[in-house]
Amino acid sequence: MAAALEAKRLGLRFVVFEASQPFATIVNFPKGKPIYTYPTDLKPAGDFSLQAAVKEDVVAELETQRIAAGIEPKQVRIEQLERKGDLI
Ligand SMILES: Cc1cc2nc3c(=O)[nH]c(=O)nc-3n(C[C@H](O)[C@H](O)[C@H](O)COP(=O)(O)OP(=O)(O)OC[C@H]3O[C@@H](n4cnc5c(N)ncnc54)[C@H](O)[C@@H]3O)c2cc1C
Repeated sequence: MAAALEAKRLGLRFVVFEASQPFATIVNFPKGKPIYTYPTDLKPAGDFSLQAAVKEDVVAELETQRIAAGIEPKQVRIEQLERKGDLI
């Protein structure tokens, strides 16, 4: 998703393929799981940002940013990647 955000910022054509659902790994964390995030004085590279510290709030924050950026993954499980000219 961070790569998609960056691709969008650069005006590149891209597609996000997602086998399950956006942020599936975090969505599947146990209910109420505390999230260990980055130190508050660290500014991560990339445009996603997080303030929340509990699973549900983290998912909500990420989803808000994904939707605002208009990133809509195609729900597909990728089985194989091939290069064809400039395309993967
Ligand atoms: C139990 C647990 C607790 C954790 N707690 C923390 C924490 O507190 N703090 C922290 O910073 N990190 C934590 N992590 C680590 C954190 O979840 C991962 O570092 C982070 O999710 C990795 O992000 P990612 O986007 O690289 O990969 P992922 O989040 O794994 O995303 C990969 C995505 O690709 C999709 N996918 C997989 N295969 C295919 C395919 N063939 N075709 C299409 N889509 C596919 C998956 O559905 C998934 O949505 C935890 C991880 C686990 C498992």
